[in-house]
Amino acid sequence: MFDPDQVPDYPHLITPKSEISSTAAVRAHNLSLVLNLIRDRGTITRADIIHLTRLSAPTVSSLVNILIASDFVREGGIGLSSGGRKPVVLEFNYEARKVIGIDMGAAHITIIIMNLKGEVSNRFSCHMDVLLKPAESLQVIHDAIENLLKETGLTESDLLGIGYTVPAPLENEKTGEFVTHYMPAWKNISCIQAVRDIIKDVPIYFENDANAAAIAEKCWGSGLGYDNLVYIKLGTGVGSGLIINGQVYKGFSGTAGEIGHTTIEADGRSCRCGNRGCLESYIGMQGILSDGRRALANDARWAGKLDELDVKGVVKAAREGNRECEKIITTAGWYLGIGLANIINLVNPGLLILGGDLADAGQMLLDPARQSLVERTVGFNTRTDNLVIGELGSNAVAVGAATLVIANAFQETNIYSALRNKD
Ligand SMILES: [Zn+2]
Repeated sequence: MFDPDQVPDYPHLITPKSEISSTAAVRAHNLSLVLNLIRDRGTITRADIIHLTRLSAPTVSSLVNILIASDFVREGGIGLSSGGRKPVVLEFNYEARKVIGIDMGAAHITIIIMNLKGEVSNRFSCHMDVLLKPAESLQVIHDAIENLLKETGLTESDLLGIGYTVPAPLENEKTGEFVTHYMPAWKNISCIQAVRDIIKDVPIYFENDANAAAIAEKCWGSGLGYDNLVYIKLGTGVGSGLIINGQVYKGFSGTAGEIGHTTIEADGRSCRCGNRGCLESYIGMQGILSDGRRALANDARWAGKLDELDVKGVVKAAREGNRECEKIITTAGWYLGIGLANIINLVNPGLLILGGDLADAGQMLLDPARQSLVERTVGFNTRTDNLVIGELGSNAVAVGAATLVIANAFQETNIYSALRNKD
């Protein structure tokens, strides 16, 4: 019998399986075990699989044949021999299927196609007033998926699944309905149909945007190797994704990580949530833009165009030497540091990753944030690499959405669906 204690390097192998009762369930468990082992290693021999899983040689041989037939595994080169015939190396085929990641933000839609090792091959992105225009937004998503499939020649059977993120905590993980407190136009609207009209049968996974970005940075970006990290999304709103002990922490009802609505000034600015002094009222888009419009009111280059100002515009003006805009960014950094200090004192993450338009300010934002958080944290290690700008940039959320598919598809409960043959 497989002994989990023998393979401490593979935490996902340690699955309670006392309930496994049917042959199909045992086989699903073993297929998932072997597939994930090959995927984690990239390359491995049959002998190593036998050694690590304690499955019998005929069982491993039969499982590997199924994985080869489904195209997820290929026979590669010849491995090192420990005496006798040199073994054939098995490789995971990262191009076996593609995944689609949909990032439906408050003010943009980004959709990517990705392979099974986090590499983006195709991308669509546009500005969209998602908050106020649900029907138009869903139509844009529908049309963009249709165009991406046409452009790439991919069909439904080439897809492992679809990940879809929304800019609010989820209410229903199956239909994509989310908490509409800040987006009343979306009340009772399910996102799933826009996708199902085109792609009928592959699994769709929904997630909150900051959680997805945290997953993406952990799997493929700045957070590689960290089991405790926090991703802070500085977008229209301010949210965070918490990864604690390797897992996304969602809390009792899925709203954990709403860092934007923690109080940093007891009697401060009013916030869209109805409270005062929230972090978001200082560093969220509305706060930055109202300060930015004031700062640029006398700038001839912005005459008559201040309605078009966005956060990137304020960052750009600051970089070009506008002192008032620079002050807006450094003040935002200082407030951000207070919010980060609260996170650090509460959950002690190994890494804080910043993303979103305001993160484009780079060092101008990082320096005051670091200074302010160091003043407020207890025993925080002040290494300069503990607070970083995310490597995946504006793709983080969409890549995270796609990564959800990979994380779920190869679990034993879903493995038969993942392994169905391509047309
Ligand atoms: Zn608030």
